[in-house]
Amino acid sequence: MKQSQLFTKTQKQAPKDEVSRNAQLLIRAGFINKEMAGAYSYLPLGLSVLNKISNIIREEMNAVGGQEVFMTVLQPKETWEKTGRWSDKVVDNWFKTSLKNGGELGLGFTHEESLAKIMKNYIYSYKDLPVFIYQIQEKFRNEERAKSGLMRGREFFMKDLYSFSLTKEEHELFYEKMKDVYMKVFDRLGMKEKTYVTISSGGSFSKYSYEFQTLSEAGEDTIYIIDKNKKIAVNKQDFNDEIIADFNLNLNKKDLVQEKSIEVGDIYSLGFKYSEAFNLTYKDKDGKDQFVFMGSYGMSPSRLMGAIVELNNDENGIIWPEAMAPFKIHLISLGQNEEAQKIYEELEKNNIEVLYDDREISAGEKFADSDLIGIPYRIVVSKKSLENGGAEIKKRNEKESRIVKIKDIAKELK
Ligand code: ATP
Ligand code: MG
Repeated sequence: MKQSQLFTKTQKQAPKDEVSRNAQLLIRAGFINKEMAGAYSYLPLGLSVLNKISNIIREEMNAVGGQEVFMTVLQPKETWEKTGRWSDKVVDNWFKTSLKNGGELGLGFTHEESLAKIMKNYIYSYKDLPVFIYQIQEKFRNEERAKSGLMRGREFFMKDLYSFSLTKEEHELFYEKMKDVYMKVFDRLGMKEKTYVTISSGGSFSKYSYEFQTLSEAGEDTIYIIDKNKKIAVNKQDFNDEIIADFNLNLNKKDLVQEKSIEVGDIYSLGFKYSEAFNLTYKDKDGKDQFVFMGSYGMSPSRLMGAIVELNNDENGIIWPEAMAPFKIHLISLGQNEEAQKIYEELEKNNIEVLYDDREISAGEKFADSDLIGIPYRIVVSKKSLENGGAEIKKRNEKESRIVKIKDIAKELK
């Protein structure tokens, strides 16, 4: 794409009330626009990143047999009364409203109830299980603190997968597998090195649940690292919990390394809570009714986008890892256009994603924009580079560039 056609422009300043580094950078670089605390609009560059993150997650969910759906956000009160979760005393972050012709509804903050209800239409026999269903969809939460930019939205994207299994044993096989699938996603997003599987209290149906926590000063959580090599940690707030105690056997609080972290995902064994509430049963081999054993697996593409920016930036801007960068190459022409135009066409022909800065502004402005936007590779074509035999190439996080012959650029970057 030609940058002269991109309607967004960079900004020198983020809004005064924006305190998080991820949103400050994303707003200044033109990826998102702030409507109010916890509510952001995605502009072309931002939507491209969000879609790339979502697609990585989608591929990994499909690889373990996940079937994608898209459920409505509008949630009738009656559905949630069945589990007691309509009450504001139980769930403190509902956005609720009423219908013109009577009746209350809420904007979904999660979807266990509505999916359990849907599955009553499709699960009858043991032959129908196990089944894994997910969506990538917006959630609404009336969050009290919305100071972490994309990492805590009042409206945000979530990948929520739900597993429906015959037995606890069958459930546990999938549950353990999902731990690895989550780590694979974090690996593809370039955050595996800093991400810990964190033991957390599990609720009524299992001893533990797992969170995935990525080390960052910008995080709202605190973890104790138990095993740096195996990437295992305990959530500080659960440390003294008796559902956790035996995990800590010989651990002395004093000896533990405490780190700030971002919760980038969590997985739960739900057991029979929702299947009992909605009478979601199947007939076993003896024709007897049994409740379905459920699990849920959450992860937020928009929180991940914020977290990735927190992990990958410097004083000049964002440094996108290639997997979710809006473009692979930022092509910058200085002064003349003919050779740059040729490179642009060649890259496009080779399906290499390129943002071509063809604007008539100063070199300094172009470089500053390029550093702020953070595209992984920068190619500069100028009179000087041509005299030196081609174009200058450097990665966003490299200081020195090197010259590559014009005819070799597409081949080299493919
Ligand atoms: P937190 O403890 O951070 O409030 P949670 O445990 O309540 O999150 P879940 O209901 O389990 O979150 O949601 C699944 C995933 O969605 C979380 O692991 C987290 O990554 C993400 N998430 C939760 N709340 C938000 C939010 N307000 N904005 C963006 N992402 C969120
Ligand atoms: Mg959680």
